[in-house]
Amino acid sequence: MKNFDEAGLAEPVLRAVKEEGYEAPTPIQREVIPLMKEGEDILGIAQTGTGKTAAFVLPLLTRLAEDRKKPAPHTCRALILAPTRELASQIAESVRTYGQFIGPSVAVIFGGVKPGPQLRALSKGLDIVIATPGRLEDHMSTGGIKLDATTTVVLDEADQMLDLGFAPAIRRILGKLPKVRQTVLLSATMPIQIRNLAKEFLSNPHEISVAPVSRPIEKIDQSVRFLNSSSKRAALLEILSEDDIERAIVFTRTKRGADRVSGHLEKAGLSSAAIHGNKSQRNREKSLDGFKNGRIKILVATDIAARGIDIDGVSHVVNYELPNVPEAYVHRIGRTARAGKSGVAVSLCDATEQPYLRDIERLIGRKIPSGDSDWDGASGEVSTFDPTAEPQRLKRHKRPQNNRRRNGGGGGANRSAGGAGRSASGTGHPAQAKTGENGARPAGAKPNAGRGRGGKPNANARPGQKSGQNRNQNRSQNGRPRRAKPAAAQR
Ligand code: AMP
Repeated sequence: MKNFDEAGLAEPVLRAVKEEGYEAPTPIQREVIPLMKEGEDILGIAQTGTGKTAAFVLPLLTRLAEDRKKPAPHTCRALILAPTRELASQIAESVRTYGQFIGPSVAVIFGGVKPGPQLRALSKGLDIVIATPGRLEDHMSTGGIKLDATTTVVLDEADQMLDLGFAPAIRRILGKLPKVRQTVLLSATMPIQIRNLAKEFLSNPHEISVAPVSRPIEKIDQSVRFLNSSSKRAALLEILSEDDIERAIVFTRTKRGADRVSGHLEKAGLSSAAIHGNKSQRNREKSLDGFKNGRIKILVATDIAARGIDIDGVSHVVNYELPNVPEAYVHRIGRTARAGKSGVAVSLCDATEQPYLRDIERLIGRKIPSGDSDWDGASGEVSTFDPTAEPQRLKRHKRPQNNRRRNGGGGGANRSAGGAGRSASGTGHPAQAKTGENGARPAGAKPNAGRGRGGKPNANARPGQKSGQNRNQNRSQNGRPRRAKPAAAQR
């Protein structure tokens, strides 16, 4: 499938795609659209920015257009699960855009708002429900929604849902869906927990992978500045005062940090807004709208709040604080350089954050060039990083007590296959891990062949069921607890 005309999309869907100005399908669309049309299960590695939303929404809408039966009250024909309210709202916006000539009935279900309007929408029966797992379960428990007529389920940003502690909820939700259905699981990374979920709930899935998480988009001009933490504010102002800033997202690790940075920018006369889990839904939507329409030029965000946000024209991403989970760096910088544009990503790194930087550089497999620094943090190649170099002596990064040291010094990154996006071979590249698996298996000979949902002993997940891996889901590959905060604190 080289162009949309060959994709077998319904005419009104095709019209909407043309209206959006899309000339050709993106790689993930080329792979996912035909498979979804065939009713196949899919396990896909895909980041935001690759066009993954249209990849699953266009075939969903095509199915609705071709079979316009009215859903029964309190049911939905298709369910899309997303980790955050922002991503759910954004998917709904895409559904409305691509479905503008079909007019599907759609509801977005998430917490933090009154349930009444959601219940009213559900009571009529809907074509598509887009939901975060927590609020969906609330409505399931009160009979607001039943999933026994849902024939397609999409889990978007599944790794993020697991990071937020939604694994038990997802298992309970999937357990309530009909056995005969289509399941599409998309994740930016492929940790073992996602594979386990796929084994439990997907039937002979086709595995696809585009733009692996370890390879940041080529069009992003990445740099790092080595600064003392006291110099960060001034550096941020300097970066954000540049003329070429169209829209910028500044990332902090904590909600309080986001508020502090936003306040500081406001004081300096730069219009900004902070979005994080402590802000009300209304406030977050207002900030995002302001950012989209250009009223607010700078958004200060935590990782969770910003994940999946798709806003064109973000020219700069500034990591005011480096993320302690290296994959988050790739997600952050992926906010810029979207839709074929280029972008700039600057990271401000103080001495305590250098271990985070090393983890990031190992993940992306290259050194991030340094610019305008207080001191020279750039010391050698990624693989031969010298831990005795000057910046390291300023202040050692404090690791939690139960941290196990990594295997092999010198950046070998010999981690187990148990973590996000790493390969079993210890290369640190999910792409390579995937190639290996795919290479070992001829097309059509799927590893699960003959072990469809019905045939698996664990096909019917029990509520709250935990596997060994799940108990470890908040640990990174080296046994270090992820310092991501509990779901409730972050959302
Ligand atoms: P997503 O990965 O779903 O967040 O999409 C990223 C961006 O790509 C969105 O702004 C879409 O509007 C845009 N997009 C999706 N499909 C295409 C396409 N085939 N051609 C050009 N832009 C696209």
